[in-house]
Amino acid sequence: MKFELPPLPYGKDALEPHMGRETLEFHYEKHHRGYLEKLRKEIENKPEAQKSLVEIIRTSEGSVFNNASQVWNHTFFWRSMEPKGGGDPTGEAARRIRDSFGSFERFREAFVSTGKSRFGSGYVWLVLNGDRIRCIETLNADNPLGTGGTPLLTCDVWEHAYYLDHRNDRGRYLDTFLRHLVNWDAVSERLAGGGEL
Ligand code: FE
Repeated sequence: MKFELPPLPYGKDALEPHMGRETLEFHYEKHHRGYLEKLRKEIENKPEAQKSLVEIIRTSEGSVFNNASQVWNHTFFWRSMEPKGGGDPTGEAARRIRDSFGSFERFREAFVSTGKSRFGSGYVWLVLNGDRIRCIETLNADNPLGTGGTPLLTCDVWEHAYYLDHRNDRGRYLDTFLRHLVNWDAVSERLAGGGEL
């Protein structure tokens, strides 16, 4: 497959002031693009070059896995946010969060504390497991594809995601993500079985 960097779903200053233009410039143009370029080099003229990104993630390890997974994770992360997003969930997302966590407040506490508990770099996810949705965290490039359920939402908790806007305060970053950035319509769409990458 020919792997291209998917365009950001919004302008680089569209998430201001919650996620600044400089963060998106570096995170998208340097980090995300960097993972894609490394992946391309590593799989050039190899059997992996014929596979889809998700197939590569499911069947590789080491550096090929890390770069492929980081490409997928970042695309999923951009689509987990929108300008003027966040706040109380809507639609199917609201119903499922109430069913699984009791209230939005309890979900918020679980998501923030799960993200804060990831020591070092990784991601916090909302995933669908059977009938339930839950918060999990993954290390470095890992993601829940194949093992941890269906990803519904993710927040990148590598320091490069928040240091320019929130310095070392990961808790404030996660809180800002939920209050101002989450794309709840995308979560509802994924719960309905759509929104695949
Ligand atoms: Fe990142």
